Amino acid sequence: MSVLTRDEAQTRARLLDVHRYTIDLDLTAGDEIFVSRTVIRFTARADADTFVELKPAELRKALLDGHALDLDTFEGNRLPLTGLAAGEHELLVDATMRYSRTGEGMHRFTDPTDGETYLYTQLFMEDVQRVFAAFDQPDLKAVFDLTVKAPDGWSVLANGITEHLGDGRWKAASTPLISTYLVAVAAGPWHSVRTEHRGLPFGIHCRRSLAPYLDTDADELFEITRQCYDRYHEKFAEPYPFDSYDQAFVPEFNAGAMENPGLVTFRDEFVYRSAVTDTERQTRAMVIAHEMAHMWFGDLVTLRWWDDIWLNESFAEYMGYQTLTEATRFTDTWTDFGVARKAWGYDADQRPSTHPVAPEAVEDTASALLNFDGISYAKGASALRQLVAWLGEKDFLAGINTHFARHRFANATLADFIDSLASATERDVHAWADAWLRTTGVDTLTPVVTAADDGTRTLTVEHNGSRPHRIAVGLYDLDVADESRHLVLRERLDLDIPQGEPHPLGK
Ligand SMILES: [Zn+2]
Repeated sequence: MSVLTRDEAQTRARLLDVHRYTIDLDLTAGDEIFVSRTVIRFTARADADTFVELKPAELRKALLDGHALDLDTFEGNRLPLTGLAAGEHELLVDATMRYSRTGEGMHRFTDPTDGETYLYTQLFMEDVQRVFAAFDQPDLKAVFDLTVKAPDGWSVLANGITEHLGDGRWKAASTPLISTYLVAVAAGPWHSVRTEHRGLPFGIHCRRSLAPYLDTDADELFEITRQCYDRYHEKFAEPYPFDSYDQAFVPEFNAGAMENPGLVTFRDEFVYRSAVTDTERQTRAMVIAHEMAHMWFGDLVTLRWWDDIWLNESFAEYMGYQTLTEATRFTDTWTDFGVARKAWGYDADQRPSTHPVAPEAVEDTASALLNFDGISYAKGASALRQLVAWLGEKDFLAGINTHFARHRFANATLADFIDSLASATERDVHAWADAWLRTTGVDTLTPVVTAADDGTRTLTVEHNGSRPHRIAVGLYDLDVADESRHLVLRERLDLDIPQGEPHPLGK
């Protein structure tokens, strides 16, 4: 199997403009395989050779503009399209594909409780090819039209609203322009709870054997969903970009959740089957908020290549914690972040294996996940939070909204993100990014308080490190009248620490 390199992706993105995938999946062909027929409409900007990816059980037919392609040229996971002429093309690929038991591609699960079978896709980041033929890279966005044939008694969920046409045939509404890795389908005899919020259909789904547990928590799940949804609409000028918001709790899921547009999948351990702590409920709410942030940052505006995956995750991580704090009953989430997540980042950053938050280059899909660690997630999110403090939230959000407006339904890089933020502030965001995102290791800030004979005290913050910081200093009085001797905030000072020098902060 060939992994896609960044050079290959750049060459193909220059060559192709992909318009539309029409995908038909037949899920009634037995326990091992399903049938996948795909028509891709695209434009070639020049005469050239290229290829489409696919990992079939059996490649049955491939037609380019109605002419059969030689199936013997198929090698590994690539079907060559040689001698492509500049202009419009239509590629049809007819294949059978294998169900997966590893959570990659089209996962198939039979519930031991009741014998019911469920299928769902997980296509990040190159498992699209296990389900349908595709130009599988994030910056070749297209419209997806999907039809599915499913067994009787099943329902089918997808990115767009689905409709049962009768006789087990389902059709999903056309998506807007999205990346291949974000396409999603879930099929089975789901237990579903549905509602509507501000005219948008909301659904939560799980396998039938978990129905009572989902029903018990449905109010809480919808409340968190509504609160986050409303808060994001206060922050972001761009409205929610898709036609519905389904959250499916699926069995044997490898990750915590996946941000498929309009159909977020979660591990179904989040449907609690026994008493849990409030911290566990907070974690679940955090994942809901995190995935919803991706609807804008990740799905509406998508990374151009996998070297910016840390930014995608750090942004959702920052937004998730911040939005939960602002909009839900979980108001202490940053404490949780400080204790659990940030410590992970500090730890990773002081090991010999540390690396900059933003990697210089990721050469291929296989190496994109190697740096996915405490630096990418925890330090990245902490650095973004520092960026918000340093810019001020108003300018940060203005920059984010510029970013969404500039790159909606398209792709953007870290450089584009920094440019968008720079447009909203006088501050030098490019220098900030160099100091925080291209370097390794921690800065140490040490507060030193000295008292003079006249009772005045002076606070000095010693700065060992090279980065600019914006910090808040609280001045407190001890409430001696109060038996529990509480500290009472007298004043909060927001202060800039420039690069690399001790900075007297006043009295
Ligand atoms: Zn994420």
